[in-house]
Amino acid sequence: MADKDLAGRKAIVTGSATGLGRSIALRLAERGADVIINCTRSIADGEATVAACNEVGAQAQLVAADVSTDEGARKLADAASAWGRLDILVNNAGITRHARDHSDLDALSREDFLDTYAVNVAGPFLVMQACKPLMVKAFEQTGRASTVLNISSIAGVTGIGSSVAYAATKGALNTMTLSLARALAPAIRVNAVCPGFIGTRWFKDEMGAEQYERLEASVARSTPLNAASGPDDIADSAVFFLTDASRHVTGETLLVDAGTHLGYAPLAAR
Ligand code: NAD
Repeated sequence: MADKDLAGRKAIVTGSATGLGRSIALRLAERGADVIINCTRSIADGEATVAACNEVGAQAQLVAADVSTDEGARKLADAASAWGRLDILVNNAGITRHARDHSDLDALSREDFLDTYAVNVAGPFLVMQACKPLMVKAFEQTGRASTVLNISSIAGVTGIGSSVAYAATKGALNTMTLSLARALAPAIRVNAVCPGFIGTRWFKDEMGAEQYERLEASVARSTPLNAASGPDDIADSAVFFLTDASRHVTGETLLVDAGTHLGYAPLAAR
């Protein structure tokens, strides 16, 4: 049974019907927080996540909203306003366009860039903009800084990722984390996590089961820690930024990538 150290805290996790967002939402629920689950189209998955959170004693609700629009961001903040404050915001919703050959500049269009930016960069900003008054209220009511966690990517640090556009959006999100950590202190802490590979539908849907298994095995062989992370491996590190254990941490970017950023060890050494 998890320690209920987040009892009474109010949280939003965007893009939390599936994958990493679902894992983080479940951890918050297990530790006692009430959680708004968010998705755009994955309603059945969203309802399943709500049920799983309720099962561990949380008050969870589903809010279908597109984070890349003012209307969607406002809808999330309106749902949280019933609580009168917001302690935790996890900007997890993200998309990519797979174009792995970075030398093939024709693989990406203007629309690919703008669509990816809209969700991965404008989205976190718009949700923070809409939720800021509620997060400041949380600080005023509790004396404890509220906390934003941006789910970025190792692609934003190394420039290697599913596409040039995707890597650029995550680099921008890392910079925005610094700007807003400085601007919103002391009321709101803003941090980021940069996962490496995560075994989610992100890859499974794109490549099918057989190719996915080969990819997972090759990631496990080539990371310094010999590990292909699943959503729970990343969520366990991410939760640090949402609890009082990180109360003096803001503007931090944590790489959770089984050592990928260190570079691959030569095969002969393995
Ligand atoms: P996922 O597809 O399971 O999760 C992304 C979620 O975002 C989905 O539930 C989707 O419905 C939601 N979403 C997409 N656009 C949205 C919008 N406009 N409004 C609201 N919700 C929206 O994939 P995941 O791997 O769990 O990705 C979660 C986060 O982790 C993303 O930000 C992604 O960039 C990041 N990440 C993933 C990997 C990986 O290898 N899978 C690696 C590094 C970082």
